[in-house]
Amino acid sequence: MDIDELAERVMAGDRRALSRAITLVESGRADHRAQAVDLLEALKGAGRTALRIGLSGTPGVGKSTFIEAFGMFLIAKGLRVAVLAVDPSSTRSGGSILGDKTRMEQLSRKREAFIRPSPSQSQLGGVARRTREAVAICEAAGFDVVLIETVGVGQSETMVADMSDLFLLLLAPAGGDELQGVKRGIMEIADIILVNKADGDLKSTATRTCADYAGALKLLRKRPQDPAGFPKAMTVSAVTEAGLPDAWEAMTELAEGRRASGHWERNRAEQARHWFLEDLRAGLLARLHTDPDIRAEVDRLGRDVAEGRISATAAADEMLATMRR
Ligand code: GDP
Repeated sequence: MDIDELAERVMAGDRRALSRAITLVESGRADHRAQAVDLLEALKGAGRTALRIGLSGTPGVGKSTFIEAFGMFLIAKGLRVAVLAVDPSSTRSGGSILGDKTRMEQLSRKREAFIRPSPSQSQLGGVARRTREAVAICEAAGFDVVLIETVGVGQSETMVADMSDLFLLLLAPAGGDELQGVKRGIMEIADIILVNKADGDLKSTATRTCADYAGALKLLRKRPQDPAGFPKAMTVSAVTEAGLPDAWEAMTELAEGRRASGHWERNRAEQARHWFLEDLRAGLLARLHTDPDIRAEVDRLGRDVAEGRISATAAADEMLATMRR
């Protein structure tokens, strides 16, 4: 199938075309890469925008249970939902935290839903590009909501936040008053903290945990561009579905507030620039390793530096000058 035809089918909502398109952007082959670039250009013509929601949480907090319940809730509202996963564990161990169990069984059977596991790749940078491209494909395919899920380890949260319009942090109720060791940086990128499992015996603990986080959020930097009350902490139960309508209302309120203030567009523009620079940096770095002439020169200068014939600074300058030519 040629790329224009694949693009047409994706935009017409053909699921097989959608899977194929994502497989194409996930491929590392140079010819596939060139086709992927053409495909993404062709899909821009769709001019569609989804609400991109990033979601993070440590294993066991209930991400898959939440996404299943929340996805079904959105479908009942007449929306179409795509779920993409970013699993940094698969890049390190080859095994994965997100992908190895049967997840979201009900949702995965729905015509209005599309679920795609994390691409396996050796570097988070590669996963970032592929996920970002998969988001763009799902958007062109007409999904209303694209959920991008990640586990709460390493750099993956920031990466997901950098491709989302809203960022949710899912937490479990915590006994005692420790704030579950949530890193400050993650608190700072969270728009809405959802304390999950607010049901049965855990309900009162969840309410207390939620109040603790609401207090902690107040101490963080204000976001004058957002509606009053954000970032906020709320309780939900993925099992009983309590709190899901309120959580969705908060998400839409925030999204609409950002659209009205122009922050939404500015954010997307900044994200696009950020990813352009990331791709450029990755491309330049790759050239250091793959271009034989450049490699030979890097090796030669490296030896000269090690043997004290030239300073590291001068060698780097010389290399950059060579690359400019
Ligand atoms: P993930 O690793 O973050 O994807 O977490 P899972 O969705 O697999 O859930 C981990 C465990 O927490 C499972 O045993 C779920 O049944 C349980 N769980 C998830 N959500 C809730 C909830 O809202 N309430 C209660 N009581 N248990 C939940």
